[in-house]
Order: sequence, then structure tokens, then C-alpha cells
Amino acid sequence: AYLDRIEAEDGAVGAYLHVDGEAALERAAAVDAARAAGEELGPLAGLPVALKDVFVTEGVPTTSGSRILEGWRPPYDATVTRRLKDAGTVLLGKTNMDEFAMGSSTENSAYRVTRNPWDLSRIPGGSSGGSSAAVAGGLAPWALGTDTGGSIRQPAAVTGLVGHKPTYGSVSRYGLIAFSSSLDQAGPMARTVLDAAVLHEAIGGHDPRDSTSIDAPLPPLAECARRGAAGDLSGLRVGVVRELGGEGHTTGYEEGVLARFAEAVQLIEGMGAEVREISCPSFDLALAAYYLIAPSEASSNLARFEGMRFGIRVSDDGRHDLDEVMALTRAQGFGPEVKRRIILGTYALSAGYYDAYYGQAQKVRTLITRDFTTAFDDVDVLISPTTPSVAFPLGSRVDDPLAMYAADLCTLPASLAGLPATSVPCGLSEGLPVGLQIMAPALADDRCYSLAAAVE
Ligand code: GLN
Repeated sequence: AYLDRIEAEDGAVGAYLHVDGEAALERAAAVDAARAAGEELGPLAGLPVALKDVFVTEGVPTTSGSRILEGWRPPYDATVTRRLKDAGTVLLGKTNMDEFAMGSSTENSAYRVTRNPWDLSRIPGGSSGGSSAAVAGGLAPWALGTDTGGSIRQPAAVTGLVGHKPTYGSVSRYGLIAFSSSLDQAGPMARTVLDAAVLHEAIGGHDPRDSTSIDAPLPPLAECARRGAAGDLSGLRVGVVRELGGEGHTTGYEEGVLARFAEAVQLIEGMGAEVREISCPSFDLALAAYYLIAPSEASSNLARFEGMRFGIRVSDDGRHDLDEVMALTRAQGFGPEVKRRIILGTYALSAGYYDAYYGQAQKVRTLITRDFTTAFDDVDVLISPTTPSVAFPLGSRVDDPLAMYAADLCTLPASLAGLPATSVPCGLSEGLPVGLQIMAPALADDRCYSLAAAVE
């Protein structure tokens, strides 16, 4: 049924970069045969899933939205790919994304435009916009995205989905094509909080192949989502972040977003939670710090794409030396946003500028983490809008990187501090979805799920 929907609708939506219907049907038949034979099945046996094209999938094209990886078929599976296979899922396909996950609208994909199923003239968010469009458009029941500065939460918010960025280190990054290694996390995008929790449980947990993986069990996420749905929030202390759309800090936020956020706060209070405003002054610097740290790490991570080991190789005709082949391959293989970030990151890390830019940004990162620590002395969770605006029209910000970066205003602090954060739908503004963001202390992802389930 999903393959039929993809066939009928994906021409207009553009969620997928690669679909292999035959492989999916074969795999589904194999699950059916195993079931018929009475074999023990994985917990998600037969359930279709879509993966952002940033996860490597053995033998299945993986591009990270970039021309430089065109035609590459990885020889191995990412840990999350492997875990989803082991759980019995059927891979529908790989979804579109901003090139190397750099963007907020999926317009930086080297391959195609992805449209928001709520309004085809608008962006589906990014960088996991193919995954959000696939799930919102009914082209997959759920999907995985990755979030470096908001790329699960923001696309979920603007397409009316639930998206969760797990605690940094709680989902393996092995086989996840790196953008900014100290920030990247994979997570679920789904239509309900419970679905997201179930998918998260299937991919999470310790992995010895990722040196930053935390060796601790996941909290019982699905159980918390189920319990949270009862809507009893008595005893829960909730902080509204003043700097993220709180009292007097509303510049740049759409009125409809602030109105839905205020209603969500009332709803939460009505279910018995104690709500207060909390100030996190360093959050105002998150955008500036992120756009130094993420490009710095990217400039280092992307050095591996030199036209020798993966993907395309330009001018391999014997008339160019090694350096020329690398330069020509990168010039042709990387898009403008990726080049901008490599240049910015290389500059920020270079001798003479390191202390002024990268070093300062790292200090700000520490201050942001401290703001969270102080806040969590007084409250159990923090909330804010997920994004300052609803889905904006395609093309409206492509020529203005700073306007594009503003989409991440609310999601960046939790990213920089490595904390779990969920976006859950909290109503519509002018017919378009608005998201509520819920942030919790490290490893307390369960708090995000239970509050999200209550709000849902
Ligand atoms: N929009 C942000 C950026 O462009 C975040 C992207 C992400 O989380 N992958 O860097």
C-alpha cells in the first residue's frame, strides 16, 4: 500500500531519493514466510520504514543529499540500519535531505525539491525534510531523521509530526555520515508520540562501534508515552524559556506560533503541572556559537570526500595530478552551502582565528550547558516553540542564509548541550502545523515522551 502511495504521490511531494519496491516486497514476503513457518519475529516485523539518506545502507545507494556521493553503494550498514533490520522492518527507501544535513528546508539537496504535503508550495523543513514529507504525506508510517541543530524537530514541527532528538550518545552514530560529530544524533519522526517512542527503542542503546556511545540502558520510552497519555501532570515542574519566545522575547516569532504556544502552556497547567518562566541568558548566543562549531567540525569531517575513496571522481583522465583531481571533484561535487560551511569552518579553526572564533564558541557552549543545569535545579522540563514560524514558502529564504539559520533559533540550545528534545504538534496557525518543543536533562528522554503524550 505504501509503495502504491509513493508511486501515486511522490512525483508531487518529492520525499524520496531512492525507492526499491522490488526489494521491499521481497523482504516483506520473507517476513511473511518466517511468520508462516512459526519462526520468532522481531518486534517490528513487517513494518515499513523510511530512512534519511544520511544513514549508510548496505548495497543501497546513499548520497547524504550530495552529488559527491552519487552512485555510492555502501559496503556495510549503519548500526541503526542494522537494528531496524533485526527488528524486522521493511526498508521502503531513502529520503531526501539538505546536502550533508546542512539546511532547514531541504532546498540544499543536490537532487530534488521536497514539498510540504500540507501545502505543496511550502518547505517540509530540513534537513530531514524528505522524512517529514514522507510521513506527513502518508508515504511511510514513520521514518528516521538526524538532528544536529534541529533537523528532526523543525521538520517535524512544520509538517505536524512528532520528532525526537535523543540525548547525545544514546543512539549510535556508527554509519551515520558525519556533519558535526559532537552534535549529530539520529532519532524518530512519527505521527504519534507512542510510534516515535517505539521506533526510538528499536534504534537506541549502547554501541561499542561509536566511541561517544553512552553505556546505559534507555529509559522505558513507550511505557512513558502510554502513561503520559493519561494527562495527569500533577507534580511536574515545567519551565517556559524566557529567551525562546517567553515574556518580552518575541521578536522574530509569528503571532500564530506564539498564540498556539500560549495555549499549550495553559493546557499543561490545566493538567496539573506547575509552570513558571525560567531565564537562560546564554541561549541568545546559541545561534552564533552553533554556526561556528558545526561548520568547524564539518570542515574536518568533509575532508574525507576527496574523490578517491567514495562517489564521483572528476577529470580522472590521466591529464590531471592528484591535487587537481581532488579540487575539481570537490568543486563539482559540493553545493554552495556546503562550500560556504567548509570555508567558514576552516577559517574559524585556522591559527590566529581559533581563539577568537572557535574557542569563544566553545566557551559559549559551556555557558549554555550551565544555563540548562541551573534551570533543571528548579524544573523537570523546559518548553518553547519548536520554530519561530510555520512552514515558509519554497524559495523564500534560499538566497538569505541568515534568514534560513533563524529557523533553528529554538532548537540549537538543546543540541549544543547534548540534551534530549521533542517536538509535538500543538495546533495550527493559518492552516499550518505549529510545534511545541520539550527539553529534558541528559538521559531523561522519557520526560519528553510523557509530556508530549499528554499534550498530543
Ligand atoms: N539547520 C541547521 C543547519 O543548517 C541544522 C541542521 C541539522 O540539524 N542537521 O545546520
